[in-house]
Amino acid sequence: MFTGRTKNLGILGWPVEHSLSPAMQNAALQKAGLDYVYVALPVQPKHLGDAVAGLRHMGFAGWNVTIPHKSEILPLLDDVHEDARVIGAVNTVVRSGEKLIGYNTDVAGFLAGLEAAGCTAEGKHAVMLGAGGAARAVLWGLCKSKVSDIVVGVRNPQKAQALADDFREYGRISVFHWANDVFAEALSQAELLINTTPIGMYPKVDDMPPVELKRLPKSALVYDIIYTPEKTKLLQEAERLGHSVVNGEPMLVGQGAEAFRLWTGVQPDEALMRRILREGLV
Ligand code: NAP
Repeated sequence: MFTGRTKNLGILGWPVEHSLSPAMQNAALQKAGLDYVYVALPVQPKHLGDAVAGLRHMGFAGWNVTIPHKSEILPLLDDVHEDARVIGAVNTVVRSGEKLIGYNTDVAGFLAGLEAAGCTAEGKHAVMLGAGGAARAVLWGLCKSKVSDIVVGVRNPQKAQALADDFREYGRISVFHWANDVFAEALSQAELLINTTPIGMYPKVDDMPPVELKRLPKSALVYDIIYTPEKTKLLQEAERLGHSVVNGEPMLVGQGAEAFRLWTGVQPDEALMRRILREGLV
């Protein structure tokens, strides 16, 4: 039962009605016996400043941040954790005393996916497809894991170069069109292939990133951060060729679990969170 003492959490975005986070977080909060409630906070971009001031004054314990507010919220916070600062996006806010601190738990989520696959990225040659918002968290996760180098394959190298430049000081990163011979050569040396594009995501489940999987060494892990469908065409093909694969589900659960830990200091039931998510996903 919620009382006057119940602490408030939520997800700030526009739109947010399709978010699975309220179901996932409330189930985990209830299971842990914590007196919190997690609600949807639909806020139009033009009202973000007022909304953050309101949440601050209403004493919210914290909240998740989703599209389109992840970068715009940065200057409205009192402090920003290194992961969020480097990535340039906040997906979790935590109240600490009077201060609002911004975090990015997508990095922990991405690393949870590697761990779930039993993969240690340190020293490995990594190839990443795509250079959008999620790619920034993946790139930072790879740099933090001390991979040997990262080759980014994209359809628009000029645009992606800006992303590589942002991370230049943290690792050896190069960008190529994925039809370039140098990219094909990198693929043949890769120990880790990560898809961060939405190619193959529901409903276009027959689509697949244009990479020659046959070039990839058999021992390479193929990681697709897409979580709908559970197994993209890329993962199906990779599995058929004998690769270990991991989908975006551990990343999705992992980012939520890390936010839960930051708000409450308690370890959530991640198996329960995964079950609730899977029930709500396509
Ligand atoms: P985004 O910011 O729109 O970036 C998408 C990237 O993919 C861009 O580099 C884009 O290239 C490229 N791309 C998109 N469609 C393409 C196509 N048809 N052909 C070639 N390149 C294409 O999206 P995002 O937020 O990074 O999300 C990407 C995917 O990650 C989505 O499927 C999302 O569901 C998933 N995701 C998963 C998690 C998780 O927790 N598992 C978290 C975040 C995101 P251009 O720049 O040239 O347009």
